[in-house]
Amino acid sequence: MVEIRKLKTAKLMKKVMADHFYEIDAAMKAGNPKVAWCTSVGPAELLRAMGFVVYFPENHAAILGATRTATDYIPVANAIGYSPEICSYLTADVGAYLKGFTPLAKIYDGIESIPKPDVLVYNTNQCRDVKDWFEWYARRWDVPCLGIESYVNVGEVTETHVQGIAGQFKKLADDLTAATGNKLDMDKLAETVWLSRKCSDLWKEVLEMATHKPSPLTFFDGTIHMGPAVVMRGTQVAIDYYETLLEELRGWVAEGVAAVPGEKFRIYWEGMPIWGKLRENAELFLRLKTAVVASTYCNSWIFTALDGNDPWNSMARAYTELFIVRDDDYKEEYFIKMKELFDYDGVIFHDAKTCPNNSNCRYGLPQRLQEKAGVPFVTIDGDLNDLRCYSEEQAITKIEAFIEQLGERQ
Ligand code: SF4
Repeated sequence: MVEIRKLKTAKLMKKVMADHFYEIDAAMKAGNPKVAWCTSVGPAELLRAMGFVVYFPENHAAILGATRTATDYIPVANAIGYSPEICSYLTADVGAYLKGFTPLAKIYDGIESIPKPDVLVYNTNQCRDVKDWFEWYARRWDVPCLGIESYVNVGEVTETHVQGIAGQFKKLADDLTAATGNKLDMDKLAETVWLSRKCSDLWKEVLEMATHKPSPLTFFDGTIHMGPAVVMRGTQVAIDYYETLLEELRGWVAEGVAAVPGEKFRIYWEGMPIWGKLRENAELFLRLKTAVVASTYCNSWIFTALDGNDPWNSMARAYTELFIVRDDDYKEEYFIKMKELFDYDGVIFHDAKTCPNNSNCRYGLPQRLQEKAGVPFVTIDGDLNDLRCYSEEQAITKIEAFIEQLGERQ
């Protein structure tokens, strides 16, 4: 069996993530600074500039998935009316809360629960589920729930879109002040947006290390190392982390170290990770000498539009330009651009049962991509957190057959 190569920086990652959770836990216990919950592609910069510590429930839900506890708690949320068909981040997180469980308590000494928020702040740019999720906690704890209602299925992002969302950002700042007393510091906002932009640029550079042949990292490494880009963008900590990671990756590239020794094929992973099967999937691709070199998922935390000189409009643009917000014409072009950049041989579309928003194989896109750009693809059925929706045997058979076909093409 070939071993998964671990980057040394992974140790630093553990510390950075621990510090993040301890900081929020301490704030909650002391009642200062106030705690804001935020969606993963939500207005984190604004919240930091208003003096909140920021907690990301999707990160918590992914930990429930990765620790394979999610499937135990999803039925608890189903029993109170939250369908097994809706986001399994939402159902796993709410179910775990109702049972008084959090994996954080097992991982971090002294942390007993998820942090109770002073305010919950969403952006529906990714889906409606995040709003429903936050509203459930808002009712439970009687705390304010505020947010941005985004456009969906956007082709070209126009000034009308940008002005509309920028206006909502400004109103959100006023509403946050009214709800919590925290005030916006415009200098701090500019600084936070710059820090976020720097983090985004570094994260992009990390992911583009996989354009090298052989690639020094895979999608499965990306799902781990994306942590700081998700939960700490807008801070110096995230920047320092990616500078360290990049240094190690540059060393690997210089020495020709391959994440997948004997790399023969290069794959693009489209859709959500299957959190409870990351290790198994990483090992499967290792065995098939296939490097999963790129993914829409990891790319979702690249926000090149952010600009500290124009924080409102640039935040509005960055959070509207996201892949998940866009229409299929944009997405097709995006996959073609990614093919040019990463030189992948084919695409695996993960049809995640409970996340139609991040499953792009339901409206003929893979077929059009194949016709237009000759991109071979395979679709696997599964889910991000609900392992009852994933048939491992079937997925392995499909992936093995797909790689065999790629071999015949070569
Ligand atoms: S995008 Fe998908 S996985 Fe993420 S919160 Fe929405 S439904 Fe859940």
